[in-house]
Amino acid sequence: MARVIAICNQKGGVGKTTTAVNLGGYLACAGKKTLIVDFDPQANASSALGQDPLRVEASVYHGILGVDHPDNVVRPSTLANLHIVPSAPHLAGAMIELVDLPEREYFLRKFINQLRHRYEYILIDLPPSLSLLTVNGLAASDEVIIPVQAEYYSLEGLGQLLETVNLLKKNLSHELKVNGALLTMFDKREHLSREVAKELRTNFPHPVFETEIPRSVALAEAPSFSKPIMLYRPDSAGAAAYERLAKEII
Ligand code: ATP
Ligand code: MG
Repeated sequence: MARVIAICNQKGGVGKTTTAVNLGGYLACAGKKTLIVDFDPQANASSALGQDPLRVEASVYHGILGVDHPDNVVRPSTLANLHIVPSAPHLAGAMIELVDLPEREYFLRKFINQLRHRYEYILIDLPPSLSLLTVNGLAASDEVIIPVQAEYYSLEGLGQLLETVNLLKKNLSHELKVNGALLTMFDKREHLSREVAKELRTNFPHPVFETEIPRSVALAEAPSFSKPIMLYRPDSAGAAAYERLAKEII
């Protein structure tokens, strides 16, 4: 049975998708059957893994609405043990359709439950909001990873995110563990980066991963080649960091 892990932060551009794609990639490289579920209408994880969001016929949207069987929605990637459920822009509209339906928080969970026996890890890449999409993502998960960019405003908003997680935990019939905060785009030469790291490690009420993801040009470039980092620049510092993170998770 898969460990289902949401990658979540309502703040935009903090490294959620980069983490989903490259952590997923290294879990797969470690021999773990891994599925990435792209649950963001921006569909960045899908394109980073070679899926064209404007052309996918069966996306996560069709999966959660039951229009398509899960088997038709899962796609292979360039890595042997890594599969992807792609997203598409019309996922944004799905929320308007779902909002009046009963059990609207559990659509993604019901979809993922049909797949979880086939994988060891399922990572859900979430959009930058605390919307019904995000609530669906958290309600489908056992654990949540919160990427935190090493910059001044990053710590603001974490309280609101943890409140949402706590509220959900109270209403869920299963555990939702804050697996940890993950420092991203870290530059140890910058005073500010070190200060944010110190502040997070001192005050965050849940674990903080030992691995810090450095700012790395290779990580930013890899998606434009539709490749996870281990197929683009396996020798880069960013690659080494995500490999260490995968070991920490396992
Ligand atoms: P959104 O909230 O829009 O979904 P996100 O949280 O998923 O964003 P990413 O898309 O992963 O964030 O990253 C934002 C930008 O920063 C991207 O251009 C990405 O390539 C770049 N980036 C992410 N992590 C790193 C890193 N460690 N070093 C350098 N660039 C990075
Ligand atoms: Mg993203």
